[in-house]
Amino acid sequence: MTTPAGTEGFGLILTVDLDALARNYRALCSRFTGRQIGAVVKADAYGTGIDKAVPALAAAGCRTFFVALPREGVSARERLRAAGIADADAHVHVLDGFFPRASELYRTFRLRPVLGSPDEIARWTAWRSNENATLHVDTGINRLGIRWDRIDELVPASAIKDAGVDLVMSHFACADTPDHPLNEAQIERFAAVRAAFPGLAGSLCNSAGIFLSDEAHHDLARPGIALYGGASHPDAKMEPVVTAEARILVVRPVKAGESVGYGGVWTAQRETTLAILAAGYADGYLRAAGTIDGETGRQVSIAEHRVPIVGRVSMDLIAADVTDIPVAALEAEGPNICAELFGPTIDINDVAEAAGTIAYELLTNLSRRAARLYIGETEKN
Ligand SMILES: *Cc1c(COP(=O)(O)O)cnc(C)c1O
Repeated sequence: MTTPAGTEGFGLILTVDLDALARNYRALCSRFTGRQIGAVVKADAYGTGIDKAVPALAAAGCRTFFVALPREGVSARERLRAAGIADADAHVHVLDGFFPRASELYRTFRLRPVLGSPDEIARWTAWRSNENATLHVDTGINRLGIRWDRIDELVPASAIKDAGVDLVMSHFACADTPDHPLNEAQIERFAAVRAAFPGLAGSLCNSAGIFLSDEAHHDLARPGIALYGGASHPDAKMEPVVTAEARILVVRPVKAGESVGYGGVWTAQRETTLAILAAGYADGYLRAAGTIDGETGRQVSIAEHRVPIVGRVSMDLIAADVTDIPVAALEAEGPNICAELFGPTIDINDVAEAAGTIAYELLTNLSRRAARLYIGETEKN
């Protein structure tokens, strides 16, 4: 494609499709058998931009949001208020819990902490306004939360009441590997936790969990990556939300036997035509997606042709081998032509996998140097 107006001074152009985000939200809702799908919008909504993602999700009907940090909770609440949604109608949960020195933020922005230790419950109870809270029970991931086999001893019913806890949650360690035995164990442990706190609503599923058995569903789900088009489970076919396109700076020849880029790690075996793209690892495109072992790297898409990256991905530049694209096809694209790094043609999950990582890391590392465009109905409102 050619670069849109407003992006003239940029090398990498990120387009976030808010309608695709809303469709992914609705698709998850139709798969889910519990009461409600919340949205995890931590890390700037997985790099897509919390300020745009929250109103788009709210317009799609979402009323429960999860962030990692109180500061992120402030952003979520501010966007909800700006969208005209009353504080009482939308919940913002802080997964990392209660930060006593930021206590005023919880009050001012109506944030609900996810409490994961007896001390934290006590600190919250001593301070709390009338906002409710969530109890985090660890059923096997061993990060945050009170161990499932010690809740009777550590969390008396009176503590739940005094802390205003109305939801109990736990988190899967291996839901993206459906056959992993830990999934079944966590589902059973969480069922026992629910039985111990019959008055509380329950939340267990992240994105991948929604595609495990319905028994895992409970009342509220907390998907993140699936909303943003990342793979979480073999059955979770979500729409891409972010498209990354890099401007082509120049198309140039290289002679057979010459190397390309830093380290000279890739050598042309034939007369080659290169397209040099104005994006690199400083934009968040992974260096490991380029040539590492002398072979070609990941593919990019130019003028509807998939072509390989050759040589290392450097800070600002990427070289692609466009020898096999007919010159007419390139010329037909006109000036300002771009290469798709990932999006509708090149699956972000494939790029991440080839670079030895996951779409979560690729999305959350997209840099502020890139131009960001938002498309979709929600954006126009
Ligand atoms: C990040 C996070 C999620 C979302 O996980 P995805 O795999 O992105 O769906 C849900 N719950 C907790 C506790 C998390 O930390």
